[in-house]
Amino acid sequence: MNFDAYARTAVDLVNARLDDLGGLKALFTGEELAWMGDEVTEKDLAGLRRAQRRLREVFEYGTSGRDADVVTELNSLLEAYPVQPRISGHDAGDWHMHVTGRGASVGAEYLAGAVWGLSVWLCEYGSARFGICADERCGNVYLDTSSNNCRRFCSERCATRSHVAAHRARKRAATTLTPA
Ligand SMILES: [Zn+2]
Ligand SMILES: [Zn+2]
Repeated sequence: MNFDAYARTAVDLVNARLDDLGGLKALFTGEELAWMGDEVTEKDLAGLRRAQRRLREVFEYGTSGRDADVVTELNSLLEAYPVQPRISGHDAGDWHMHVTGRGASVGAEYLAGAVWGLSVWLCEYGSARFGICADERCGNVYLDTSSNNCRRFCSERCATRSHVAAHRARKRAATTLTPA
């Protein structure tokens, strides 16, 4: 995985529903993360919930232009969830990188990658590209990769829903204002 893919795991974590272990397991989709779903425990759940709150703060700081706070919080997260690269192979010959040392928990491995990816992403693109969905009922975070930094919603689904709602509201207002 490159830093961009790791940054996206930070987004996925903030947007995940961590009500129970089942919700957490839904986070580990894709071949590279599948092993985490098998090994994750209740203990990881508590740690990932705490980190989820802190990572959301990073996005809140970013959307309100508090660049220095983004950096302070990410530096503190980098200290808490350090990267320690290690070559691993589940079958011989299937060599690939892990980002934490042998015996590290699933939570530590996931967070080391997520925090590192998000930090590199910040250096590359700036914190103004950390976004929170403009649909209040959603609240999902996203990384804005649009060419002119104009993205407002986490997904097409939220954008469409919000435009339809705005359209209906305008129509209602027009109807009310038209004399009978
Ligand atoms: Zn592995
Ligand atoms: Zn949304």
